[in-house]
Amino acid sequence: ERTVQRIAAGEVVERPASVVKELVENSLDAGASRVAVSVEAGGTEGIRVRDDGVGISGDQLEAAVAEHATSKIGDIEDLDRGVATLGFRGEALYTVGAVSRLTVRSRPPDAEAGAEITVAGGDVGEVRPAGCPAGTTVEVDDLFYNTPAREKFLKRTATEFDHVNTVVTGYALANPDVAVSLEHDGRETFATEGNGDLRSAVLAVYGREVAESMIDVAWSPDGAGADDDPGDDGAPVRRVTGLVSHPETTRSTREYLSTYVNGRYVTASALREATLEAYGGQLAPDRYPFAVLFVEVPAGDVDVNVHPRKLEVRFDEEPAVRAAVESAVEEALLDHGL
Ligand code: ADP
Ligand code: MG
Repeated sequence: ERTVQRIAAGEVVERPASVVKELVENSLDAGASRVAVSVEAGGTEGIRVRDDGVGISGDQLEAAVAEHATSKIGDIEDLDRGVATLGFRGEALYTVGAVSRLTVRSRPPDAEAGAEITVAGGDVGEVRPAGCPAGTTVEVDDLFYNTPAREKFLKRTATEFDHVNTVVTGYALANPDVAVSLEHDGRETFATEGNGDLRSAVLAVYGREVAESMIDVAWSPDGAGADDDPGDDGAPVRRVTGLVSHPETTRSTREYLSTYVNGRYVTASALREATLEAYGGQLAPDRYPFAVLFVEVPAGDVDVNVHPRKLEVRFDEEPAVRAAVESAVEEALLDHGL
C-alpha cells in the first residue's frame, strides 16, 4: 500500500498553473460537461474557472474553503486508479484562499438561488446570495499578493501562461467528453467541443495540420484490439490507446508528447522514450512528434514518487510498459505504411 505524502500548503501553490490544475480538477470531480478557464497576465493577476457541475450549496460554501474541508474517500478511488491526485489533499481552496483573493460562487442545478463567499489572504468573509447560473465559478485574484517571497519566483507572463496552457491542454485531451476552453487576457486560446472524440479535441488544441496527421493507436496484450474490455488477467499493461502524429509532423520540443496513466496526466520518461523508439529513424534530428497516449496498467503497478508536485510516475514493470508502448506506436505507424 502506498501513501501519498502531504506537503506544506505554501510549497504546493507554486505558480498560477498549480492553482488552475486544482480548480479544473475540482470542476471535473463535480461532473462538469463544460469547464471554462480564463486567466489574466498568465494567471498572476486573475484566474477564473467556471463549470456547469453539481455546484456547492450555500450552506456548504464555508466548509469548501475551510482547512481540511473534506476528509475525502476520493483518496481510495485515487489509489484504485493507481495514480493519486497530486498536491493538495482536500484543501486546495483553503490553500489558495490563504495566498490570494478567492471568490467561490455557486448554485447547484436544483437550487433556486446561488451564493458566494470570498476569502482574502486567509480571512473568510460571509456567505452572500449571488445570482449565477447552475454550476460553480472560482475566481482567484492577485495570487501571492501577501506572500512577496513567493511572488518573486513568478516568471514572465508568457512563461506563466505556457504552464497554464500545458495544464489546461492536458485536461482537455484527457477528457474529450468535456468542453474545455482557455482564454488569456480576453483572447481565446482554444475551446474543445466536448463531443467525446479525441481527434476533435486535438484539432481544437493543436490545429488542423496536426489533427489530420494523427494516427490511431489501439493496442492490447493479446492483440484483441483496444475496444474489448481488457479485464484483469494479470498482464502488466492492459491497453495503450490514443493518437500519434505522422513522423513528418513534428516540433523541436518533447512537450507535445502527452502521456496519461490510468486516465491521469503524468510525465514518465519511459513512456516518451518508448514512443520515440517506435519511430526508429523516421524522425529528423531533434524533431519530436505529437502524441496523446493513454496507458492502462494495474493500479498496484504504478507509483507516484519523487515529488508530488512533479507528475513523475514509476512503473513496477517498466520494461514491459516500455515494450507495450513501443509496440503500440510501431504497429500504428506500420498500419499506415510507415
Ligand atoms: P478536494 O477537492 O480535495 O475535496 P478542494 O479544496 O479542492 O478539496 O475543494 C473542497 C470542496 O469544495 C470539494 O470537496 C467540493 O466539495 C467543493 N468544490 C470545490 N470546487 C468545486 C466545484 N467546482 N464544483 C463543486 N464542488 C466543488
Ligand atoms: Mg480539489
